Amino acid sequence: MTHPIVPITVAFGDGIGPEIMEATLKVLDAAGAKIAPEAIEIGEKVYLSGQTNGIQASSWESLRRTKVFLKAPITTPQGGGYKSLNVSMRKALGLYANIRPCISYAPFVKTKHPIMDLVIVRENEEDLYAGIEHRQTEDVYQCLKLITRPGCERIVRYAFEYAKQQNRKRVTCFVKDNIMKLTDGLFHQIFNDIAAEYPDIQHDSMIVDIGAARIADTPEDFDVLVMPNLYGDIISDIAAQIAGSVGMAGSANIGDQCAMFEAIHGSAPDISGKNIANPSALLHGAIQMLVHIGQNDIAEKIHHAWLATLEQGFHTADIYEEGRSKVLLGTAEFANAVIANL
Ligand code: NAD
Repeated sequence: MTHPIVPITVAFGDGIGPEIMEATLKVLDAAGAKIAPEAIEIGEKVYLSGQTNGIQASSWESLRRTKVFLKAPITTPQGGGYKSLNVSMRKALGLYANIRPCISYAPFVKTKHPIMDLVIVRENEEDLYAGIEHRQTEDVYQCLKLITRPGCERIVRYAFEYAKQQNRKRVTCFVKDNIMKLTDGLFHQIFNDIAAEYPDIQHDSMIVDIGAARIADTPEDFDVLVMPNLYGDIISDIAAQIAGSVGMAGSANIGDQCAMFEAIHGSAPDISGKNIANPSALLHGAIQMLVHIGQNDIAEKIHHAWLATLEQGFHTADIYEEGRSKVLLGTAEFANAVIANL
């Protein structure tokens, strides 16, 4: 199939970002993806140059024009310093739905949960990440949890539509409405209302703490999950890690106008510059991007080549295991092994 060339914006990010982005773009190029990447600089370098929001005005211009963003992870300081650019970008571009598939690849990759295949649909703009946080007095600090009816309706409907399109059987809602009766209560109420419009899809709800425990214990019982922002952020890291590694889960951030694709993990400063990071999570983000721009055949080709690489036992350090793995590969070498299977 011939595809028109689609301009996309890419950012190499911080920490392991440049290594995994180079590996990912090399695979996309070898697979014949019809994309024209435009690189922008975001993150630490931009902050250090004095641009306190971490992104230059010209970069917004590229994002608003291409409307498709492949982004490597960036570093955000903990407990102070500048505001998270990830959160700002999701809000500025209206990326309300964060889709995080977490799948096991047993027997090729070690996991206690060999038949896990779930998708977390995380609300991406509201909740405690709305950015309303301030100091009230020397000893009292406040962060407000913002939940709106339109925000809940949009994300819950997205989850049911996703389940319908992907032929999935059940949508589960995680909330904490025994405690946050108004905010999480609204999310839960809207979940029940919208679920009634989808009689062919099963639905249920759990309080997030027991839900998290069940995911850690029997993730094979779950299908599609929908939840407010903070719970989705935490639960998707748990789910990705127990599936095999956070280094393998990709993520799509979808809005009405723009979309951003990334790994679920961060910039991993502990392993940066060593050519040992697993590029698979960002590659999965890129595969989701190719589907988004209608290049499904190329997405499928890359996914098959990636699976074949895992099956051959060519593994990066995060998933390498004596006996199960055959060859320990660095980031760049793993990308070459995927390319050899295209
Ligand atoms: P992290 O996800 O960067 O790393 C957690 C652990 O997982 C580390 O031990 C790391 O080595 C490992 N890991 C992560 N990705 C890996 C990969 N591809 N291959 C192999 N191992 C991998 O989380 P952190 O250390 O808590 O955060 C580091 C920085 O990343 C922080 O500044 C944080 O704010 C930022 N962050 C950014 C994003 C993003 O840009 N979307 C997301 C999460 C965290």
